[in-house]
Amino acid sequence: MSRAESLYRLQLLDLELDRAHKRLREIEASLAGSPALEHTRAEAAKAEKALRLASAELKSLELDAQSLDDKIASEEQRLYSGVIRNPKEMLDVQQELDALKRRRVALDDQLLAAMERVEQLRADELRCRQALAQAERNFADDSVHLRAERDKLQATVEGDLEQREALCRGIPAKDLDLYLAIRAKKPNGVAVALIKAGACSQCGEVASSQLVQQAHTGAALAICSNCGRILYAQ
Ligand SMILES: [Zn+2]
Repeated sequence: MSRAESLYRLQLLDLELDRAHKRLREIEASLAGSPALEHTRAEAAKAEKALRLASAELKSLELDAQSLDDKIASEEQRLYSGVIRNPKEMLDVQQELDALKRRRVALDDQLLAAMERVEQLRADELRCRQALAQAERNFADDSVHLRAERDKLQATVEGDLEQREALCRGIPAKDLDLYLAIRAKKPNGVAVALIKAGACSQCGEVASSQLVQQAHTGAALAICSNCGRILYAQ
């Protein structure tokens, strides 16, 4: 195997490792949680809170109504029991009763509105809870597939790393350093470029016949005069 070929093979492994690591990061991010699931969860919590507040308000109105009913009953009892003999006092009690009954009628309207609201919010809350349960099931299903993909990728990475180590043992240290230095400078991580139709396949620069020859025989490393990558001819 020529010096350039060894580096080219190393690069195939490194690019595969890059892809695997990128995908593994994506998988970990997906397994950590989903924005859609969080949104559904927040909506369910909001619906639950709205229902709780409306139920408490209804309960409070029901207690007010109960207390008014008690008061009306007790005033009527007083009025019709005959204990009040003074006509002025009887009139006062009658007026008080009328006022209590008017409040009671107004309260009935509030109660009806509060009951309708609770009913509506209960339906909303149920819908949100069902949506959340579905979203959680979907997330769990997705997670099963993602974990399986992660396990497979990790096995691939381990195999690639072993191959890489074996390959690196046969590469001169200065070639390896050069390869790593070029790779670090290139955004796509490609340090070794194939020569295709006499030109560098990465930047398109036409290589001199001497460079093409050098890339073929592989005795010395041929470097693209434009992009600085190591040239390799298959
Ligand atoms: Zn080039």
